[in-house]
Amino acid sequence: MKKKIVILGATGSIGKTLINILKINKNDFEILLLTANKNLNDLLKQVNLFNVKNIIITNYEEYILAKEKLKNKKINIYNNFNELDKIFKNKKIDYAMSAISGIEGLNPTLKIIKFTKEIAIANKEAIICGWPLINYSLKKYQTKFIPIDSEHFSIWSLLEGSKDKDIEKVFITASGGPFNKYPIKKFKTITVKKALMHPNWKMGKKITIDSATMINKVFEIIEAKKIFNFNYDKLEILVHPKSYVHAIVKFTNGLTKILIHETSMKIPIFNSLYPDFKKKINSKKLDFLIINNLDFQNVDKKRFPIVDILKKMPSNDSLFETVLVSANDSLVNLFLNKRINFLDIEKNIKKIVNRVEFQKYKKIKPKNVTQIRKLHEYVSSIIKPLGV
Ligand code: NDP
Ligand code: MG
Repeated sequence: MKKKIVILGATGSIGKTLINILKINKNDFEILLLTANKNLNDLLKQVNLFNVKNIIITNYEEYILAKEKLKNKKINIYNNFNELDKIFKNKKIDYAMSAISGIEGLNPTLKIIKFTKEIAIANKEAIICGWPLINYSLKKYQTKFIPIDSEHFSIWSLLEGSKDKDIEKVFITASGGPFNKYPIKKFKTITVKKALMHPNWKMGKKITIDSATMINKVFEIIEAKKIFNFNYDKLEILVHPKSYVHAIVKFTNGLTKILIHETSMKIPIFNSLYPDFKKKINSKKLDFLIINNLDFQNVDKKRFPIVDILKKMPSNDSLFETVLVSANDSLVNLFLNKRINFLDIEKNIKKIVNRVEFQKYKKIKPKNVTQIRKLHEYVSSIIKPLGV
């Protein structure tokens, strides 16, 4: 029987990587719903290719345009995620991919959990800000969770049910991005174009900038802490410019497991769709030139001072994570729009998270999406004037 699937954020980098896998294995899947914000052209191509009957387009103008373009077709078009009941009735689909970028992905992720047997989550901001809510829904609706961020998929594969007490240390690798060797004194003149030139990974713009500042690894440490319920002292960042090893786990029995795969998100995504060797994927030969020179380095904190922000993170799930993610979301936007320079991102993140008014959030556990959304909007409202 065909696997019934949904892609939230189908037109993004992760969404398209998944679509490419589905294209090759078209007979195995039926896509019930695709969503996008405003990239109608790409969404419509996917709709035609897979004969999709339901779409959500969150940008209002594009939603109206879609209604016009598809008026003669039997396709249900929605502008938000409030009517999922209508689409799925009371039947669970098999697999949902959560790949909307930024904190905007949290609400759709929470909403889809009820309707799917499995959810693969790439949207790290949703995990970082809303993990207690996601975890609650996963349990309530008995939905299986698969982490898609490559490091987390690797850790998840390496752990294979081992207990927290059996794990001594977990290393998450970082490529170091485009500025791992760039002269620090030239950082203030880094252009958007340069920051978007990631040496190894082809990703959406926001996460590419996050990789250039290294906050992406701060996020990934927080993400791992939440998903696997580790303490922060169990987790460490290791710079590995080749991005061949994605995670290393040292166990208390003396064994260490390392996970290697080619630098492409198609590997974790494929494995989330086809677990247990159900199908083969075309992958590159093992590269011994890289293996013979893995070249691990500690993070240079003069170059990437943002990693110190981890010391400020509370040990329990809190709303403070939303302050950090929201500050970064807005500042990266300002940088992408050429309103602030590269160094302003880190400088202003620190200013925001150090504000006295936000310290109380370290002790408040997120209870619902509205609370997270309101805080997100407040932090964004403080940051906007910084760009003028
Ligand atoms: P992209 O920017 O390439 O794509 C984002 C997707 O989300 C697009 O489909 C976009 O629609 C949609 N979207 C954006 N804003 C909204 C909104 N407000 N409401 C609804 N939909 C929206 O991102 P990536 O694919 O790179 O990343 C997606 C997530 O996965 C991020 O959280 C990222 O951190 C994480 N991730 C990504 C990796 C990668 O390799 N790319 C690796 C690991 C994690 P539209 O195209 O119409 O704008
Ligand atoms: Mg990653």
